[in-house]
Parts: sequence; C-alpha cells; structure tokens
Amino acid sequence: MNIQEVLDDITATLRPELGQAGKVADYIPALARVPAEQFGIAVRTAKGQEYASGDCDVPFSIQSISKLFSLTLAMRAMGDDLWKRIGREPSGNPFNSLVQLEREEGVPRNPFINAGALAVADRLVTCGDGLDDILAFLSSLSGDAIGIDEEVAESEAATGFRNAALANFMKSFDKLDNDVAAVLHVYFRQCAIVMNCRQLARAATYLARDGVHPRQKTAVLSDRQARRVNALMLTCGTYDAAGEFAFRVGLPCKSGVGGGIVAVLPDKLSLCVWSPALDESGNSVLGMRALELFVANTGMSVF
Ligand code: GLU
Repeated sequence: MNIQEVLDDITATLRPELGQAGKVADYIPALARVPAEQFGIAVRTAKGQEYASGDCDVPFSIQSISKLFSLTLAMRAMGDDLWKRIGREPSGNPFNSLVQLEREEGVPRNPFINAGALAVADRLVTCGDGLDDILAFLSSLSGDAIGIDEEVAESEAATGFRNAALANFMKSFDKLDNDVAAVLHVYFRQCAIVMNCRQLARAATYLARDGVHPRQKTAVLSDRQARRVNALMLTCGTYDAAGEFAFRVGLPCKSGVGGGIVAVLPDKLSLCVWSPALDESGNSVLGMRALELFVANTGMSVF
C-alpha cells in the first residue's frame, strides 16, 4: 500500500470542505485568530517511515493532546500508584465539569478530563520538574526542540477560572500534594505547547511500538502500560464523543481544542491530523473526517 498516496488523496478530498463546517476555539484570542482553512496529516510507522501531506509543518497549539504525554510521564514515574487518585472510566460529562468531581470526592473519572490532567500535573510536580519534564520528553520523542506559545499560556492562566475551581476542589478533598498555583502553572503551560503534525505523529509512535521510543531501543513505557494508554485513548480520548469515534474511526485517539488529533494503530503506526474548526464536542471536524477516510482507504483498524 502506498501511504503517501492515501494521505495526498485525503488532503485533496477534504480541500473543498476547508472552513465549511465547525468553529475555531474562541475562548482566548490567540486561538480565535487561527485561520480555519487549514488541514495537515502525518504518519509515522512503527518501523520509522514517515509520510505527510497538506499543512503538516504548520505549528499549532496542542492543548489537550498534552494530556497523553503528561499521563505517560506520570505512569513512568509512579507505576500503578497513579491509579489511587485517578479513575479509568469515560466521564459522560463535559471535560471541565465540576459536578461529578464533587460527587466522587475529588477523584477524577479519567486522566483526560481536565480534573484528571490536573491530578496528573500534581504528580509530575511531586516526582520531577513538571513542565520541563514534559518539554524534554516531547523534544526527545520528536527529535526537535519543543516549546510553548507564551501568549496562549498567559491567556490560559488569565481565563482558567474553571480549571482553578477544579484544582481547588481536589485540594479541598486532600487529593493534591502540591499548591494549587504550582499545579495550574504546569497545566496551563502544557496546554500552550506548540507542535506540528509531523512532530506529534513521531512523538506518539511509542504507543504503536509496545512502549519503545520512536528512534531508540529504550522503553518509554512497558508493553502493558502502552496498551493501557491506548485503551484510555479509545474510551476517553475525544471528550464526550469517544463512543462516536470508536464507532466511526475505531482507533485510539486523543484530541485537543487546537484542532489536532493524535491516533494510534498498535504495532503499525501513529498519525496526527490537524484542522482548527471544531464540532460541538470540541473535536476537529475535518480531523475526524480524515481519520475516517484513512481507516476506510487503508482497511486499518483495531477492530
Ligand atoms: N486549555 C483548555 C482548558 O483547559 C482546553 C484544553 C483542551 O481541551 O484541548 O481548559
């Protein structure tokens, strides 16, 4: 199969639809002004071949995709102890909901809703250098120096009242080790990390290689841990639309409100799609369409 042709076909098919449906995230100005008419896709195989098409080199705000990599670092640092304060069930509630957190006494349903990512950020502050560890990890995985967009980071902090509420809530239940401010600092800045499709496809390849680093022989995670991350992506990785994603795409995915989606086909490849306009659940409209086309045109799926 010629993967490059598949990607070029998807880009050509979606070109007439650019900017037609969905809405760019507008809760902060730096995201609101990103032009909607962009689409990129990149694939890295477990063996190391790379393919890319469209706006695959345009940097974007990775937002909640960062939760995948912070979770990986926390699993590495803490092993199974991580699950004492974080669940593994789809939430069935909006990603920033407070209601469930109160009912469940400060234990977030899963690591991909905001409360869960804040709990993960807390563990990274306890076990290491927080944000610096995430940036160093992403730089090692992608092979490029990865940084953050300071304007986005400042706006996240200036408008993140609900995230502050979630963190304070967990602190009140004695479920955070560190100061709320230190935890929020890591979370707001990890949301502001900037990467492109090629870098993200490369960074996620350990999930298609039983936990092995994309370009080294070292283990990022154990085989069992990598399978568990993929399971969480499939069940909880795409906000409140994880069922719809499993039904229509059938790959473990993690999305972000910057319009990126990372997907994994275990033992075969990782990919990243990006298009900034989002549907009502916060997932990229054309990103989801591209993943559907990729699966249909290659016959690749976990099912
Ligand atoms: N940065 C936003 C927040 O926490 C959105 C992250 C996302 O879901 O991609 O609240």
